[in-house]
Amino acid sequence: MRRKETHFLAVHFFSYVDGSLRCEGVELNKIADEFGTPAYVYSAGTIRENYRRLDQALAPLDHLVCYAVKANSNIAVLNLLAKIGSGFDIVSGGELFRVLKAGGRADRCTFAGVGKTREEIAYALREGVYSFNVESEGELERINDVAGELGLKAPVAIRVNPDVDAKTHKFISTGKSKNKFGIGIDRALEVYKVAAALPHLKIRGVQTHIGSQILESGPFAEAASKLASLVTELKACYDIEFFDFGGGIGIVYDEALSSGSPDWWSHGDQARRMTPEDYAAAIIPALKPLGLRILFEPGRFLVGNAGALLSTVQYVKQTPAKTFTIVDAAMNDLIRPALYEGWHEIVPLQQTKEQSITMDVVGPVCESGDFFAQDRGIPPLAPGERVAILSSGAYGFVMSSNYNSRPLLPEILVDGDKVHLARSRQTMDDLIRGELLP
Ligand SMILES: *Cc1c(COP(=O)(O)O)cnc(C)c1O
Repeated sequence: MRRKETHFLAVHFFSYVDGSLRCEGVELNKIADEFGTPAYVYSAGTIRENYRRLDQALAPLDHLVCYAVKANSNIAVLNLLAKIGSGFDIVSGGELFRVLKAGGRADRCTFAGVGKTREEIAYALREGVYSFNVESEGELERINDVAGELGLKAPVAIRVNPDVDAKTHKFISTGKSKNKFGIGIDRALEVYKVAAALPHLKIRGVQTHIGSQILESGPFAEAASKLASLVTELKACYDIEFFDFGGGIGIVYDEALSSGSPDWWSHGDQARRMTPEDYAAAIIPALKPLGLRILFEPGRFLVGNAGALLSTVQYVKQTPAKTFTIVDAAMNDLIRPALYEGWHEIVPLQQTKEQSITMDVVGPVCESGDFFAQDRGIPPLAPGERVAILSSGAYGFVMSSNYNSRPLLPEILVDGDKVHLARSRQTMDDLIRGELLP
């Protein structure tokens, strides 16, 4: 594996070697030859490195990292994380099933989400999850009810909404009082009282999660200090074992490769680049004195920069207004640009010295929202050329759909010079599986 050494740590292992883009020790062109495009490629080394770096930054705390499965739930990725000691944050029965299939442990799982069904609660109780992170009083009653039926005691934490502004996209901000998540901080003590009175619940912790893709430590510091006093109060009354601080650490999407630096933290507008060490430094002063186990639920941070979506240019269409480069990947494969105005760096697999031109990079789906870049300077691309859409390891494949009857993509996990097909490309038959003619 080639990786430029700097005094900073690399957070991704994609780089050009002799003009050809590689993931760790493998040429992406080779992967595209073997598995076709579009295809997702993940770097195992990047995931491990990011886990290690965060885990190390949090070492002053008695902590457990519970990877947020929803960011990338391929069982090969979950298996890799389980092997290096990660717990998991799940939001559905389906995610628990995946974790167990991947060799993860239920007693290292937290179960989040505002809409848990009775079936999901029963499944999680039987498997013995570490905690239900509860989002409403109705849910407390339902969990109590199901636990009673099963003759079990359900471990719960209440998700407290600290009313802080995460300063991120409105669709991924969760910690303001107007969001649907959690219980308002002003009502938390009252709701803990309700929980304590329910016979089949065991209060185990407190949880919060303020949003996603947060690039500065201020909102985290504010949430930590706001909640630390509440947690201290609760600790005096209940048998609190942990405080779960949620996820949300942002990643760098821009300039990742074109800057020529493998270290995405070490360049650009430093004010916007929160390192894992900055994150830890901002919250440890408030969290350490609690004397509790602190849980973290990073999703995007661990896997986002570890993924690339490979795609092949199909057509270049010139209109009086614009140049459209039409690729074989589409919004159904990676919806972040359409859904969150997400920005992904797009680079050719074969390096070029040509001057950039302004273009839109779009997919074949019949929606104007089907784009990967708009009015962006990119070296001219000819039909047949391949590109990598970078930093698509989180909220990429997991949000894909069969829209326009496009088969779901293969997922390939690269580890050093080993290539593992972690999910096969769907076939035409897969597309209509389960459908019935009248
Ligand atoms: C989505 C989510 C996470 C992970 O968020 P990232 O921004 O990917 O770190 C963690 N906890 C909860 C409760 C979530 O909903």
